[in-house]
Amino acid sequence: MGALFTKARKRLKAAAKHLDVHPDVIEKLRYPKETLAATLLVRMDDGSRRGFKAWRCRYDDTRGPTKGGIRYHPAVNLDEVMTLAFWMTFKCAVANLPYGGGKGGVAVDVKQLSRTELERLSRAYVQAFARFIGPDRDIPAPDMYTNGIVMAWMADEYSMMADQPSPGVITGKPIALGGSLGRDDATGRGGYFVIRHLEKDLGLSPDKSRVVVQGFGNAAYHFARLMHADGYKIIGVSDSRSAIYDPDGLDPLAVMEHKNKTGRVAGAPTNRKAKELSNAELLETECNLLVPAAMESQLVQDNADKIKAPVVLELANGPTTPAADTILAKRGITVIPDILANAGGVTVSYFEWVQNKAGYYWPVQEVQTKLRAIMEPEARRVWDIKLEKNIDMRTAAYVHALHRIASAIEAHGTKAFFAGGA
Ligand code: GLU
Repeated sequence: MGALFTKARKRLKAAAKHLDVHPDVIEKLRYPKETLAATLLVRMDDGSRRGFKAWRCRYDDTRGPTKGGIRYHPAVNLDEVMTLAFWMTFKCAVANLPYGGGKGGVAVDVKQLSRTELERLSRAYVQAFARFIGPDRDIPAPDMYTNGIVMAWMADEYSMMADQPSPGVITGKPIALGGSLGRDDATGRGGYFVIRHLEKDLGLSPDKSRVVVQGFGNAAYHFARLMHADGYKIIGVSDSRSAIYDPDGLDPLAVMEHKNKTGRVAGAPTNRKAKELSNAELLETECNLLVPAAMESQLVQDNADKIKAPVVLELANGPTTPAADTILAKRGITVIPDILANAGGVTVSYFEWVQNKAGYYWPVQEVQTKLRAIMEPEARRVWDIKLEKNIDMRTAAYVHALHRIASAIEAHGTKAFFAGGA
């Protein structure tokens, strides 16, 4: 077992302490159901062939088909894919979606591939994993460095292999190919609903609170945009190279315009007090809400003591290590965990899949209303469990999810069988 997975699995033990679940449930959830590894041999534009390592993990499918994105990143490995699939299992249960958890990845630096090479790689992924995925088996979606176009290539490849249009095999597709309105900003919007709903409990308010966002990808941008529109001051954002800080507040739309033109946030139009920071400095900036929305393992043992925000919203998957969690909890910092905070993305993926199955498409307002109707009560429930059991929010979210997963596993007969019942 890899280091990241071993750490992630500790959350399971921590949650199980607060619930009366059968030991068989925990044993089942300690391991992924199945993982497939493949090498994608891709024809490059110069005629040569190159091999790329690829994986897909179906972690648990008790509550429904496995669901989760495909990540393209040079550092992707089996340990990371398994961990992300584990997190998806709990995320889908927090949002009460009829899904288990899965994840996929390819070890590739997309910046070094041409568009045609990227298309061949994406189609090769589907060829390699066609038996593993499927509209009622395992449903991929975008993740880091994959997007609607990649999903469109993949859905097309799958449909050709199945010899029939199969839009429900993948979510996050372009609207013209059966994508859902409102999927593009769903992750950021979901986090925004959570914050606005718990705002008073968290001691935040639009007129007084300053927000720092690490990252400026899809989730980060839409979250910043929605918060800014409601009056929250966004005082810092970053990309993988550097960060910008402006105590008077940044305009996320202007920063995005600049990033689209130049590929980076640095140099975006700001006022005279603005300055450039490193990513590490950004995390330690004085603010009321810190939103890691980039990579995993950003808040770690070494910087947890220096975080000044009283509230952290995890829009990224796994940005806080267990060691940092302990320190932050001791310091009274509330961490709203990834499996709740960023569940908006997979929730609208679920809506997309439902619309594909029904062949009937909803207006964007309906998507947003339905997203809100999931995010708010689930956030409230996690908050209540935290208060009832006097535990941190992450453990509360895992308790909430584990209760649902355990009920599904136990409904197969575990308890009744051992009790000798019907
Ligand atoms: N990759 C996203 C996540 O980590 C979305 C997954 C999905 O829509 O299936 O939640």
